Amino acid sequence: MPAFKPSPKEYLLETTTTTMPSTTLPPQPFRTPRSEFDCQYKIIKLGNGLKALLVSDTQADKAAASLDVRNGSFADGDINGIMHFLEHMLFYSSSKYPEEDAYSKFISQHGGKTNAYTANESTNYHFDVNPEHLEPALDRFAQFFIAPLISADGVEREAQAVDSEHKKNLNIDGWRRYELWKHTSNKQHVFSRFATGDFSTLIEQPTKKGLSPHSLVKEWYERHYSAGLMKLAVVGPHSLDDLEAMVVSKFSMVPADPSIKAVTVPRNAVTPDNLGKLIKVVPIKDHHTVEINFPTPVSEVEHYTAAPMHYISHLVGHEGEGSVFSLLRQKGWATGLVAGEANTSFSNQSFFMCHVDLTEEGNIHVKEVVAIIFAYIHMLKHNKDGVSEGIWGEVRGIADLKFDYRDKPSPYSMVTSLTVGMQVYEDEHLLEALHGVSLEYDASLIHQALNALVPENARIMWSSKLLEEECGEVEPVYQSKYSLSDIPQDWLDAIGSSTGSPSSTNSTIEGLAELSLPKSNPFIPQNLDMITEHSKTAEKAVDDDRKRIWHQPNPSFKTPKAVAMMHIHLNEAYATPEKAVMSKLHCLLVSDALTEVAYPASLAGLHYRLSSTAAGFMVALSGFSDALPRLMQCVLNKVLCKTIAEDRFDIMKEKLAREYRNHAFDQPYNQAVYEMAIALEAKRWHMDSYKQVLPFIGLSDLSSFISNTLFHRTWTEIFLTGNVTLESSLDLAGDLEGRLAEEEGREGALPLLPSQRTECRVVKVPAGQATVYVKPGTDPNNDNSAVMVCFQVGPDNDLQANALCELLVHVAKREAFYQLRTVEQLGYLTWCFQHSTVTVKSICFLIQSSAHSAGYLESRISAFLPVLLEKLTAMTEEEFEKHKEQLAVAKLEEPKKLREAAERSWREIDNGTLRFERQRDEVEALKDVSREQLIDFYKFHVLDHEMCRRFSVRIEATKKKEEEEGGSSNEKKEGVEQASSLEPSFKTWMGGSVHFIKDVFEWKRKQDLFASSR
Ligand SMILES: [Zn+2]
Repeated sequence: MPAFKPSPKEYLLETTTTTMPSTTLPPQPFRTPRSEFDCQYKIIKLGNGLKALLVSDTQADKAAASLDVRNGSFADGDINGIMHFLEHMLFYSSSKYPEEDAYSKFISQHGGKTNAYTANESTNYHFDVNPEHLEPALDRFAQFFIAPLISADGVEREAQAVDSEHKKNLNIDGWRRYELWKHTSNKQHVFSRFATGDFSTLIEQPTKKGLSPHSLVKEWYERHYSAGLMKLAVVGPHSLDDLEAMVVSKFSMVPADPSIKAVTVPRNAVTPDNLGKLIKVVPIKDHHTVEINFPTPVSEVEHYTAAPMHYISHLVGHEGEGSVFSLLRQKGWATGLVAGEANTSFSNQSFFMCHVDLTEEGNIHVKEVVAIIFAYIHMLKHNKDGVSEGIWGEVRGIADLKFDYRDKPSPYSMVTSLTVGMQVYEDEHLLEALHGVSLEYDASLIHQALNALVPENARIMWSSKLLEEECGEVEPVYQSKYSLSDIPQDWLDAIGSSTGSPSSTNSTIEGLAELSLPKSNPFIPQNLDMITEHSKTAEKAVDDDRKRIWHQPNPSFKTPKAVAMMHIHLNEAYATPEKAVMSKLHCLLVSDALTEVAYPASLAGLHYRLSSTAAGFMVALSGFSDALPRLMQCVLNKVLCKTIAEDRFDIMKEKLAREYRNHAFDQPYNQAVYEMAIALEAKRWHMDSYKQVLPFIGLSDLSSFISNTLFHRTWTEIFLTGNVTLESSLDLAGDLEGRLAEEEGREGALPLLPSQRTECRVVKVPAGQATVYVKPGTDPNNDNSAVMVCFQVGPDNDLQANALCELLVHVAKREAFYQLRTVEQLGYLTWCFQHSTVTVKSICFLIQSSAHSAGYLESRISAFLPVLLEKLTAMTEEEFEKHKEQLAVAKLEEPKKLREAAERSWREIDNGTLRFERQRDEVEALKDVSREQLIDFYKFHVLDHEMCRRFSVRIEATKKKEEEEGGSSNEKKEGVEQASSLEPSFKTWMGGSVHFIKDVFEWKRKQDLFASSR
């Protein structure tokens, strides 16, 4: 029996009658979630054929819009990447707003952000903005589609940006595998083509053929953009009438040419020649994975009301008892499994995929792993309940429940998903289809899809560094080493025997009989009642020498959900690198042991996260309040349990070792952020140390650490919020105490001594010189370099300094992006932002580039700093006030989800700062700030070399860059150097010295620390 299966109609009626008593409201065009009681939807079609969805959300403190054009990179024709390039070029300027970058500048000056992406069949543009500026923002946005300038002088520069965007992806395995799927498919089909584009495909190759890249972009715009292919969604607190008036006046002028159609592609992206294949590939990171990919005869988009693949992925991707993953885990062969519609799918061709993360042992048994997946699929086809309305009903019931109480997305992500959905779903099903509510049970479609999941129809990609010698071919775009063959006979035999094919003998794989359909889900909430008590901030409910409990009942999100945060402080957990690694291993083992419980819980909307921290263990839980205590019990039982799953120890150790090894292949900008944290957090071990100690940690070490040391003394801080009463909070806390007592014998775990309470301290970067830490890149094949430059401001208890810091970044980020990326094209990833090291704030710049060394990038950041001073000085009083106002509006934005609100309060609790009304207080402080103060603040913290605390991390690619940089980086000697010809721009703005450090730990030991906030 399906547990929750009311008809969509009933919900609709309830939404409009119970929470919206007014009878004059127009009916919604489709079913909407209960939690969206304050939203009204309306669909309109303009005279030119453009369809728009208007959403009036009285609670929205941002407005947003998205426009989706039903043509994407499948319309590239012979010019690889041109549709993506066109997407970039539309941002430049328009006839009505000819100033370069006018649109993005306007949006960012008014509290918003913009972005766009090009998919196979669509190009999507979107932004958000403070609501009172929606109309002028839409006016600028609409010009993209009315009269863009696609300026000739921007073409080469922007092609550099696309080139750099592609180069940053070159060493990412996900991109490499995706390209390989394409490369090994039907070469006649547009799916097989390279879609991002780079400088060569966009500029060099056309130029060689005598074509003008600029004319090409214009031509593609004229051939593929037309009002009839566009879907627009606009969200704001405005009335539906106001939104409609805006949309009609701005978008009616978008030209319509009925001869322009969406490019449709044939269903032969893969042909029989491409099927029954095994693709072996060598990854960048040290991971073993296997993925099976099948084209299915039923398109999931065309059959979205029945969504057959959704049904199949629920079962193949299940992680509970009897599932594929459960058996693979038992055998020690897998650490992760994902199944569902593959990202290679497009609207008229679906692919089903099952991806498995393999252990070393699993990598050896890869063909058995594949055989087990086929065995399960075989079971689904032949078990009388494999395709059943009962299972469908439970899936549907949970989907309904999640739909009704879903957390409202931000307007920005809401509009984007709406326009994507509008291109493919009927209006009346729009939201349900977008949120995975399958509307009808259709056994025959499910069977049709299942019947396609056979070896003859499969493409298997096996990825492992151990396959290097067998991979003789090179994929041309990402240079992946691979090989392509038929699925070998011994694999087919293993599959045949596991599926009981008559031609083969019985399977040698043990445990196949354990494969079974999932049991009914015990975590589906029964009680959805809402509490009535409400508190504005967190309040302390208990405070003793073992724990402190905070509680904040908050039903304002109108969903029966709760969040629990729990930081178990254990003074031994992070005492040495060895202990830190053992704590981490414990976390991995606990999460692993919880798989079969956590998976059904997550299906029912209950999630937990367990992590080891510098203070102990952090547990975060969220979901329906009715079932949350049950999951919390399960998690605590495992965290505090002293017996280790011995058979899983080696697997988790291997997983951890791989994680440490793979750090070397992280993107350089991520490494810069990591090294910055290592340098500035007073107590933080480096992954290199973990790597060294891990091999010496054995099962007995971990076992004795957990039983004798780890939980000896504890202190726990807990925060509960949402649909949760004080009584139930205290009950949960009581359970925890009981559990600790059990573990430690009658008298319970001992409290931490006052002297043992954990602290979090941050290195105070010395003033008077720029400190530079240069680290060579750790991946010889990655020619990206990155630099992160931080100007430390100080702890966040100075409200005015916080306000100034934020205001400065608010003004600077747009200028920095324009100068460093749009004009200088230093790199696709270019940011200016405010950064916190625990509670210490700084102003940061971060750039990653494949064309320049980190030393050069830093010199360009330095050269930008006086330019920014000029901008600040030239700013009128009026502009200044506007910036302040925009920032204040952004800061006062209320959290949209319970989890966001909970995290905000939890940060204050966990850091010990307890400023629960921080946003309001900082906005108060902002009001008194003058333009002169902002300039003085900038000079003091950034420009004045005697006063500023400047620290930078450079990750320098091992490959040498062009001569521009001379000897500025890798071989730099330790010590102080006078700013000289090496760093020309340092000299111009600082006239001071630069201190290069090599041993970051030695440097760290010698610096002062900021006081701990805890
Ligand atoms: Zn792009």
